[in-house]
Amino acid sequence: MRTQLFAGGLLVAATGAGFYLLAFPLVFFWSIPFGVVGVIMAVASVFLPEGQGPIKPPDGYRFCVYCSSEVPIASERCPHCNGVQPKES
Ligand SMILES: [Zn+2]
Repeated sequence: MRTQLFAGGLLVAATGAGFYLLAFPLVFFWSIPFGVVGVIMAVASVFLPEGQGPIKPPDGYRFCVYCSSEVPIASERCPHCNGVQPKES
């Protein structure tokens, strides 16, 4: 059960219902895909396992603030993008 996906699916389906009720020409066309995808998201959220939360870097490393590569904590610059890493406080 992914509660965030469930809530997102309900919001998307509600947006589709809103488009259906507004019945403007171009917006009305999108009411069907929004409604269908919103219901698929809400139903799929029940069967999908819960996410593992934020990804943590391995021991002795941190993520580069510019490109998200793994950078050794001791090094001042990222080996991938050469970005200067902030000092640990
Ligand atoms: Zn980098």
